[in-house]
Amino acid sequence: MRKNIVAGNWKMNNSLQEGLDLAKDLQKTLKGKTLQCEVVICTPFIHLASILKEIDTIGLGAQNCADKVSGAYTGEVSAAMVASTGAQYVIIGHSERRAYYGETNAILKEKVLLALANDLTPIFCIGEVLPEREAGIQEQVVETQIRESLFDLSPADFGKIVLAYEPVWAIGTGKTATSEQAQEMHAFIRKTITGKYGKEIADNTSILYGGSANASNAKDLFSNPDVDGGLIGGASLGVDKFLPIIEAF
Ligand code: PEP
Repeated sequence: MRKNIVAGNWKMNNSLQEGLDLAKDLQKTLKGKTLQCEVVICTPFIHLASILKEIDTIGLGAQNCADKVSGAYTGEVSAAMVASTGAQYVIIGHSERRAYYGETNAILKEKVLLALANDLTPIFCIGEVLPEREAGIQEQVVETQIRESLFDLSPADFGKIVLAYEPVWAIGTGKTATSEQAQEMHAFIRKTITGKYGKEIADNTSILYGGSANASNAKDLFSNPDVDGGLIGGASLGVDKFLPIIEAF
């Protein structure tokens, strides 16, 4: 059955020492608690190897990986390099990567293949921008993102993907999708997966919501049948804000 996951996306925040302190604090707080979800933190690359030593019940992920295997790509970090730190997850296709670094569905498809080849679980982000929501084409947009980047995967490989629906207009804006809007899109995404891979794989796929989730709206969002957790940006940068979201399950 699919897992509930609450994953923090630290984005480009925290020095190495600050990141270590936050990870240690979170691990200490969660130790011994019975949780109804898996907790993951997705940190900048520089934190991965050091943080792994400080956590045991928390999963660890990167926020990106290269679309190339290795070689003369100055400044890039490959999926194999991420995996070699001991990280288990990698966020792929975050809207900030799509918007600021020109990552297309075709590029993201390569990243997903390389992540899977290195036994990393991709947390694959999809979502529409505000004008697309206002034009009522959010389903088309999300369907295209999924189809062009993921639908050439074998059923076995697709079964390893975690999806994160993140309406771009809700990321870092304080403007959350309503619980109804989230459920509607998550149900559509699951239906789209069913159409391609069948009900069993669709029912086993974790679909997270992301976009200004916080302590006060997480319970409502997570109570939806097709919302299997959250990808949390700003509110993952402090244990006081992240813990209530984790405990919303
Ligand atoms: C994100 O970066 O994936 C995100 C959802 O950010 P925030 O929670 O800050 O809106």
